[in-house]
Amino acid sequence: MLVLGLETSCDETGVALYDSERGLLADALFSQIDLHRVYGGVVPELASRDHVKRLLPLLREVLEEAGRKPEDIDGIAYTAGPGLVGALLVGASCAQALAFAWGVPALGVHHMEGHLLAPMLEEQPPQFPFVALLVSGGHTQLVRVDGIGRYQLLGESVDDAAGEAFDKTAKLIGLGYPGGPEIARLAQSGTPGRFTFPRPMTDRPGLDFSFSGLKTFALNTWQQCRNAGDDGEQTRCDIALAFEQAVVDTLTIKCKRALKQTGLERLVIAGGVSANQSLRQSLGKMLGEMKGDVFYARPRFCTDNGAMIAYAGCQRLLAGQQDGPAIGVQARWPMEQLPAV
Ligand code: ATP
Ligand code: MG
Ligand code: FE
Repeated sequence: MLVLGLETSCDETGVALYDSERGLLADALFSQIDLHRVYGGVVPELASRDHVKRLLPLLREVLEEAGRKPEDIDGIAYTAGPGLVGALLVGASCAQALAFAWGVPALGVHHMEGHLLAPMLEEQPPQFPFVALLVSGGHTQLVRVDGIGRYQLLGESVDDAAGEAFDKTAKLIGLGYPGGPEIARLAQSGTPGRFTFPRPMTDRPGLDFSFSGLKTFALNTWQQCRNAGDDGEQTRCDIALAFEQAVVDTLTIKCKRALKQTGLERLVIAGGVSANQSLRQSLGKMLGEMKGDVFYARPRFCTDNGAMIAYAGCQRLLAGQQDGPAIGVQARWPMEQLPAV
């Protein structure tokens, strides 16, 4: 089955073709980062308008790259939520229009299920069951995964998501958008031990997270340094390192707890923050000690992309699931509501 995947939930337009027999055939992405950078964050209306401009050119690009024609496509998967409503509607309308024109089924895919299954596109995909750590711009969740659509939420952030904390902290210390890659870059030149940030909510039982305090901690540290006339590049690097280490340590402690609690020994990390090298190293070390394994997608498939939507949609379309012709999206959509495959 050849499935076209469309991703438009936020500030990346992603289009991909996934074949259930041959795997990923083509994948094209346009990131709107430059468009939103001057505003320091995503402007929803600009995002929607840009998706309108990019979708069809990207579609032509993937068809050409894969050497396929529209007639070869057996189904269309699009991101139906969660995300920015206007942006989601662009992808949903486009998918439904194409499905109607081509006489094939369309299926709305959950964006976080897309992230969660992205590591399945790699050479050594994880086997079910596993614990998944979803760490993105809008979500921080620990999920027990027994199969596609068989999700049990174990814990989540009570305030900021991990990626959001990276982005906000970066902004507070004068770094560019998106903040995650910027903080990771500066942290490489940070002085270990100069600052120590707290590991929020690790001193009590449970699998929930809280990251908003870290951003305040970073701001206070930065202001104290500035008042002392110490506001150079090295200080920014030192704060970036202390912040990154605090997030990585906190996530590692909670993942270990989730693995112990469930008795599982496979961990999948997905979403934009799973591209972070220190997080991968720290979790790799922890799983090594537990004789378990950690799985993640290539960096391009950690952040938003069409390939993950094509893959997730293909699994569900193969199982016979499909939408009616109505165009519907959901800004909020708990992943546990998804049907099992
Ligand atoms: P959601 O998936 O929850 O709807 P989103 O789609 O905006 O949110 P993603 O595209 O999965 O989120 O990821 C973007 C986030 O990942 C941003 O917050 C960004 O700062 C963060 N990020 C990307 N690369 C890194 C990195 N190397 N280290 C830390 N954070 C990173
Ligand atoms: Mg994005
Ligand atoms: Fe995302």
